[in-house]
Amino acid sequence: MIALTGARVIDGTGAAPIEQATVVVTNGRITAIGSSSTVTPPAGATVINVAGKTIIPGLINSHAHIDPDISVNPGPYRDEMVRRLKTYAIYGVTSIMTLGFETYDEPEGFYLRDTQRLGIGPVATDAPRLYAAGRPILFRPGPTGTETADDARIDVQRHVPLRADFIKLHLDGVPTDLKPDVVAAAIDESHKHNMSTAVHIVYLKDAKTAIAGGVDVIAHSVRDMDIDAATIAEMKRRNVALIPTLVRDRSVFIYENLPDFFKDPFFLRGMQAYKHEVDVLSDPATQQRYRTNAGIQASKPQLAQGIKNLKPLIDAGITIAMGSDSGSIPDRNLGRWVGYNEHAELEMLVQAGMTPMQALVSATSTAARVMKIDGAGSLQTGKWADLVVLNANPLTDIKNTRQIDSVYIGGRKVNMAGVAGTN
Ligand SMILES: [Zn+2]
Repeated sequence: MIALTGARVIDGTGAAPIEQATVVVTNGRITAIGSSSTVTPPAGATVINVAGKTIIPGLINSHAHIDPDISVNPGPYRDEMVRRLKTYAIYGVTSIMTLGFETYDEPEGFYLRDTQRLGIGPVATDAPRLYAAGRPILFRPGPTGTETADDARIDVQRHVPLRADFIKLHLDGVPTDLKPDVVAAAIDESHKHNMSTAVHIVYLKDAKTAIAGGVDVIAHSVRDMDIDAATIAEMKRRNVALIPTLVRDRSVFIYENLPDFFKDPFFLRGMQAYKHEVDVLSDPATQQRYRTNAGIQASKPQLAQGIKNLKPLIDAGITIAMGSDSGSIPDRNLGRWVGYNEHAELEMLVQAGMTPMQALVSATSTAARVMKIDGAGSLQTGKWADLVVLNANPLTDIKNTRQIDSVYIGGRKVNMAGVAGTN
């Protein structure tokens, strides 16, 4: 049993902070929490004095990935995926929902999730709770592909024995995309098997298709035009959540120059996972390619549009869960830093119009609710003791989420040095 004493506690529900709090943790769960005038450490508890610090719930990344970099890793992928998971943990990210594996890393992904849930294997400790969607449902041609509504149902059914935690769909705005009836069938089949659905979109028309088909989560911002009042009203009516992934869109183009944060000590703590990509992105030839690639440059107005679309959604009270799209196919999508980018996303959410409290709630209790992660996302009696001790108050500056003193997952202190991998 441990008792953390003296800190300010932001519990993740949006409630006012508790000053001079005591948090009692027994067998990994919070068994008492409140002001030190009402909660005192029980006899036998190991008291950890964190006076002057701020405790927040561990961050939950609603749109994560842990893909290996297949440009340098021929497999097996386990060590690299473990390293990515452990890197999330040292950044205070204590639960993640991977919104899609690739065919090549799906088996390892579910292996890691399943062994973790049994309390064994390489990510039993010092890693975030892992929740996972399998390979996305998207248009695949051919007799064993996914073209029709029946194909989509079969594709979804494939995830049932895997016990996928979510189903991810893809609409890319291309002519081959799944048709609206196929999208609706995939979502319907997912719901039949008690799985929620998240859809990758860029375009408003595709968001509308997914919403009409009953999707639960829009997994990126609408980035081609202003989101209209009718769509916002429909999201509200159907309780469709949004994951903006602003940092993902920024990551597409910012490496046209050497970013200042490559020298930030907080960024450098992830170098064991980041080094290869940092090397590639530090090459002036890479930066030149970013400056001259039309697709990369087109993402600049897309980010601006996504940011513009966020404020009316915040104001309408749409459920917004923090997600960064970190760790996605790093051989292709460079610079989506697992761990670091969740803090960058929080900062961007505040720049786009959230209060620091709203951003923290989106990354904790809201993310847990949207991702159906029981027992995490808020600091309350009965919940897991997944928490981050900060040296500064993030309500006065959201960048203070980077002032990490220590991270606890299930009441166990994360080893901040332990992310070395073997490949
Ligand atoms: Zn993604």
